[in-house]
Amino acid sequence: MVSHDVLIIGAGLAGMRAAIEAARQGLNAAIVTKVHPVRSHSVAAQGGINAAIGENDSWDAHAFDTVKGSDYLGDQDAIEIMCKEAPKDILELDSMGAIFSRDEKGRIAQRPFGGAGFPRTCFAADRTGHALLHLLYEQVVKCGIGIYEEWFVLSIVIEDEKVCGIIAMDIRTGILHRLQAKAIILATGGYGRVYRNSTNALINTGDGMNLALDAGAPLMDMEFVQFHPTTLKTTGILVTEGARGEGAYLLNSIGQRFMSKYAPNALELASRDVVSRAEQQEIEEGRGIDGCVLLDLRHLGEEKIKERLPQIRSLAIDFEGIDPVKEPIPIKPGAHYSMGGIKTDLSGATKVKGLFAAGECACVSVHGANRLGGNSLLDTIVFGRRAGISASIYAKENNIKEFPDYQLKETAHSIAVITNRRQGERGSVIRDELANIMIKNVGVFRDKERLFAAKEKIKELKERYNHVYLEDKGDIFNTELLETIELKNLLTIAECIVLGAINRTESRGAHFRLDYPKRDDETWLKHTMFYKKDDEIKIDYKDVAITKHKPMERKY
Ligand SMILES: Cc1cc2nc3c(=O)[nH]c(=O)nc-3n(C[C@H](O)[C@H](O)[C@H](O)COP(=O)(O)OP(=O)(O)OC[C@H]3O[C@@H](n4cnc5c(N)ncnc54)[C@H](O)[C@@H]3O)c2cc1C
Repeated sequence: MVSHDVLIIGAGLAGMRAAIEAARQGLNAAIVTKVHPVRSHSVAAQGGINAAIGENDSWDAHAFDTVKGSDYLGDQDAIEIMCKEAPKDILELDSMGAIFSRDEKGRIAQRPFGGAGFPRTCFAADRTGHALLHLLYEQVVKCGIGIYEEWFVLSIVIEDEKVCGIIAMDIRTGILHRLQAKAIILATGGYGRVYRNSTNALINTGDGMNLALDAGAPLMDMEFVQFHPTTLKTTGILVTEGARGEGAYLLNSIGQRFMSKYAPNALELASRDVVSRAEQQEIEEGRGIDGCVLLDLRHLGEEKIKERLPQIRSLAIDFEGIDPVKEPIPIKPGAHYSMGGIKTDLSGATKVKGLFAAGECACVSVHGANRLGGNSLLDTIVFGRRAGISASIYAKENNIKEFPDYQLKETAHSIAVITNRRQGERGSVIRDELANIMIKNVGVFRDKERLFAAKEKIKELKERYNHVYLEDKGDIFNTELLETIELKNLLTIAECIVLGAINRTESRGAHFRLDYPKRDDETWLKHTMFYKKDDEIKIDYKDVAITKHKPMERKY
């Protein structure tokens, strides 16, 4: 059987950064990914990555902005680490050859971003993720790290409460393989596709969070889902916050710059939850245009738009037929980011021995109830590196464990049950209904009635999932089968989001309850923990780590 010291699942920024670290420690590291590495969702990141490298900036100020942005739910010890280590990590990326945009003095340029008290977002025009993902892929190739490309991980194998490997399908052949490993790092990204309107790639289905739950590692804070304020009307494609960072503003149907009502100081650069709610309120109170508000860039001028926001311009032209040089862009809030995820400690370790997690699938937690723009790319780099180091230390101290046979049989059986079914319902219908109920009932605004209706609907969809059948019975590139497995993962994620949201009778960050519109620190200054027992989700709570910033009212 093939074996590795450290096996990384996911080839986004977090996975590749972790793999590089394991290779640097002289270990046999390999990456398993369901798509080619540079197709990971990290490639779509636009606006930039934060670090306090400016002359008058400090990591302390960055940490405070992040704590405030998180609505005081972020763990302050983790936030301090991220902000303190950020400058060194950015300079390392620069020295690897990252093509960061420059200011007039040739230094790495920084733009203002939402919720930040200082312009501290480093960027490569509006294609930062593209630049960084290709950069790390080059490094992975240079280090000779093996990549199982277009392999879909189906389960993590645990024996005596320790990881011993994974079972994955080679998508090209449909054959199941066992890969042994001393340590495993989950870096599988988010679950944005649980929602109808989403900026996320189709592959973002929360697979890793499900792998962790099944392996016995809890998830944390799943009720907190970030809605990005500016996504294109018909496709949900993202228009970066960098557009507002460069000076674009929001207008309603009567031409009002409405953010002055909701965030008189920060205006369009208030944090994302605040701006998304303001837009949704304008739309629901009849001051929208066809379910949207307008993002106006025209005053920035053609030259600046072409230099700083070239991708935004081409996306608006190609997908909406609108040239932002000449017309404002209709936009609306869309599901964007998973604040919650696999609970890890500061070194990326989960509750299960040998299992680590980093990036969007993990919850350290640095984003709390609301993530600041530019902090997620940073999270992938800082905590990807840290998880790579701690998984390597673990791998050096532990031997390869015997790989039990039964799990391969069980996994093969669970797939055969689906492929052998002769009749039933198509998974795509269930997936559609799930995405619709989630955006309608568990979106920017929530309340008891809508949440309970969503809970009932998910229960019904889970039941219907037991009768799902495939038209494609083949082995080679059976994407229908993969989508069906992803659907199961999406259903569990949706269940966690809804259960967490029902219990949390307060409003904090991205979780806004119309029936409980105030933050309630007395009862709810705590993390929600999600466990899976006998195929049921169980909930528990955990304290927030507070170092020096006592919770205050959050105003922008
Ligand atoms: C459109 C968009 C723009 C963004 N812009 C910014 C920005 O400007 N700044 C910022 O800070 N953040 C931004 N974000 C957020 C940020 O890009 C992501 O949170 C981050 O890139 C996630 O990286 P990751 O390494 O955790 O996962 P990803 O890049 O999502 O990679 C996940 C990997 O896991 C693999 N995988 C998943 N499931 C399986 C499985 N079952 N088997 C095998 N492999 C699997 C995939 O193949 C992939 O390689 C943006 C997000 C989006 C959607």
